[in-house]
Amino acid sequence: MNASAFTSTSPAAKPATRPLLKALDEALAELLGRATPLAGSDTVSTFDADGRVLAEDVVSALQVPPEDNSAMDGYAVRAAELADEGVVLRVSQRIAAGSSGSALEPGTVARIFTGAPIPAGADAVVMQEDCEPLADREGYVSVRQLPRPGQWIRRAGEDVTRGATVLSKGERLTPAALGLAASIGMDRLQVARRPRVALFSTGDELVMPGEVAPAQMRPGAIYNSNRFFLRALLLRLGCEVSDLGIVPDQRDATLDALRSASQAHDLILTSGGVSVGEEDHIKPAVQQLGSLDLWQIAMKPGKPFAYGRVGAAHFMGLPGNPVSSFLTFLLLVRPFLLRLQGVPDVATKSIAAAAHFTWPRADKRREFLRVRRNAGGGLDLFPNQSSGVLTSAVWGDGVVDNPSGQTIAHGDTVRFIAFSEWLA
Ligand code: AMP
Ligand code: MG
Repeated sequence: MNASAFTSTSPAAKPATRPLLKALDEALAELLGRATPLAGSDTVSTFDADGRVLAEDVVSALQVPPEDNSAMDGYAVRAAELADEGVVLRVSQRIAAGSSGSALEPGTVARIFTGAPIPAGADAVVMQEDCEPLADREGYVSVRQLPRPGQWIRRAGEDVTRGATVLSKGERLTPAALGLAASIGMDRLQVARRPRVALFSTGDELVMPGEVAPAQMRPGAIYNSNRFFLRALLLRLGCEVSDLGIVPDQRDATLDALRSASQAHDLILTSGGVSVGEEDHIKPAVQQLGSLDLWQIAMKPGKPFAYGRVGAAHFMGLPGNPVSSFLTFLLLVRPFLLRLQGVPDVATKSIAAAAHFTWPRADKRREFLRVRRNAGGGLDLFPNQSSGVLTSAVWGDGVVDNPSGQTIAHGDTVRFIAFSEWLA
């Protein structure tokens, strides 16, 4: 790892050399090294905790299920009393879910329903489909099956034992996790506080949808699309977003925006303006107020990416091209934000899949090709892989993570990352 990558540089001292290409994994490791989990936590209703990250272990004060109970509607029996099929026994009690019966009288069975506690003495449940209440003898049933001891009984504690850690600190809560927390009586959960993120877009060409109608757009103008997906991505990651809109391509305006954003935010996230063109004001402005490292990341789409500090806030500058912005967010900003919330394992999981396309030209950068799963169990490629074509990210349901210098032949096994893996 290149330790000097984070050395802050003042504008005057900055040599005018071209930054070297940095491997994506190296960039990510350096960023994560900077992502000290945020201090502080919130207590939230379990209802509202979906997507939040646990700030402490959740330990069960009871066992689930609380006692042995029936997995079926049927009859609770003593298995040893049913040596032959068709034995007729008296129904001595009726136990519904929510009630508790009494010890099972020898030589009898108990009518029982799903979720009802197994009476003492019973050791199996025969489902009602295998029993026949006698038409001519009220209160008696013929059991047509030889039960296995333990059959259709859900054991006390088979889901959760008393004292077990059911959810761990650093775990990101899912709908199923909320249900599990509720099952042990947790109505509130202690979660990491939301990262506060200031978001702004740079670019004099940008116009907000709704402000100018498509027919009235002046030549050279485009709508600001990055603002929409970046905001949505941040919200999905549990962030509190201050959307600061579009900052014009001017040094003073950029300085003002950065200065005010650095006051009360953990991260300032910008898109555009991180190349080294004359109209790219992010770099000198961040350097003037704090420190900045401009990286050329060996990924495609992507490449320019900036990390720095402004006051106490982290700064990240994404490229302006929409697909580059989208993917650098998912590959670098997302893990950073999860780590700020205390998630230990932020690695993206890819799976092996078959390419149903060819990619004949190898690139020296690691490529992320927008693809879609097809009904034949393979991946189709979106025809236009340009970094400006946002349609590719909507048509696609994921990307192929293609190593640098690699061509792809039809049928090759490639690494696929589903957008659902990132967007959950
Ligand atoms: P930049 O990184 O500022 O040089 O921008 C690279 C390309 O991305 C240019 O074509 C910009 O017009 C475009 N771009 C920058 N920001 C946005 C945005 N917020 N929405 C859509 N396109 C953008
Ligand atoms: Mg620009």
